Amino acid sequence: MDNVRIGTQCVQGGYRPGNGEPRQVPIIQSTTFKYDTGAAMGKLFDLEESGYFYSRLQNPTADTVAAKICALEGGTAAMLTASGMSANFFAAFNICGCGDHIVASSAIYGGTYNLFAVTMKRMGVSCTFVAPDCTQEELDAAFRPETKLVFGESIANPALRVLNIEKFAKAAHAHGVPLIIDNTFPTPVNCNPFKWGADIVTHSTSKYMDGHGSCVGGAIVDSGKFDWTAHAEKFPGLCTPDESYHGVTYTERFGLGGAFITKATAQLMRDLGPTPAPMSAYILNLGLESLHVRMKQHCENALAVAKFLEGHDKVAWVYYPGLESCPDYALAQKYMPKGSCGVVSFGVKGGRDAAGKFMEKLKIIAIETHVADARSCCLHPATTTHRQMNDAELEAAGVAPDLVRLSLGLEDADDLVADVAQALAAI
Ligand SMILES: *Cc1c(COP(=O)(O)O)cnc(C)c1O
Repeated sequence: MDNVRIGTQCVQGGYRPGNGEPRQVPIIQSTTFKYDTGAAMGKLFDLEESGYFYSRLQNPTADTVAAKICALEGGTAAMLTASGMSANFFAAFNICGCGDHIVASSAIYGGTYNLFAVTMKRMGVSCTFVAPDCTQEELDAAFRPETKLVFGESIANPALRVLNIEKFAKAAHAHGVPLIIDNTFPTPVNCNPFKWGADIVTHSTSKYMDGHGSCVGGAIVDSGKFDWTAHAEKFPGLCTPDESYHGVTYTERFGLGGAFITKATAQLMRDLGPTPAPMSAYILNLGLESLHVRMKQHCENALAVAKFLEGHDKVAWVYYPGLESCPDYALAQKYMPKGSCGVVSFGVKGGRDAAGKFMEKLKIIAIETHVADARSCCLHPATTTHRQMNDAELEAAGVAPDLVRLSLGLEDADDLVADVAQALAAI
């Protein structure tokens, strides 16, 4: 299965049943696992052998689905989490703690912005936000001796800014730290951050991966390429003995390919516990089986609606990385030539009020906080997901007060364009 294309990995990756075994991924709906001797189980607790003992730490169904996502991204190890937020938190907290510092793109998901700006700050981790299109000098100036990672989104939700992944990766590596990319919006079908120098990828699988608005979930994938031991003084958690596991040193025992995910599982999942339910992992896998087919349709529908909006006289502006007029078109062509995502943002002339009226007139496209599933939906971030931000912060995150985020689903493109047309006509 190593040399097959991404569509084949979507359908069959991660699970190879043996003779007479179930064709579909089994749902191992069990909190615990039975052993013949205490000594055998003790070896699992000491991380001397791999195996299952309690589903908070690891569950076979979740691991099978994580292995598929690992294959899709081309990583060396992966884990599922209960949400995209816990994936981003774990990815960061696995290598930084009190006194440390993060450099992050300002164009990121509102929840992640808040995680870095407020919640992790209360834990003693500070964050400097930089514009995704900042100059090299501005980017370099954001680093401090205590910086432990750089974070960005391949396509920002909801700003839809495309990150210059290579530029951010080079800056991170020049300062001896990894680049973590949240690849939720393009998915590995459309963008492969590891190819461009990213070291760790995270996902909210709640979006296109699940694809049907069924299960909240997240994933972390390690490329295995970042050499923690070359900067051992920055990453003591990975490069020095963990006393809570009888002195295991993760990089020594599990190598560069396994250290990061093993530590996140053994320490963070053990102590904090946002583990996915086996049933949710199974449902996520059903979505993954059609991810490559669905992404194509999401992108086609989004482009059709974006082109329609672009020519409409009641529309102030349109932002979609697949439009040639988009400032990020060149970056999108480089990093995601097959397509970007199914989300389009635009401003209705008349600002906040007009945006609200437009959304209420829609018949097929529903008002939801969600994005990126089979059913088309829309949202006004300034009054919902991003309402904790003031106008300056909104500006920095690339979210205009009149921004309407349209998530184009899998319905017929002509019906979606017609729905947008009638709603614009009615305001
Ligand atoms: C939705 C989202 C998240 C948060 O994921 P949840 O699964 O809702 O916790 C993080 N990053 C991006 C880019 C998202 O779109």
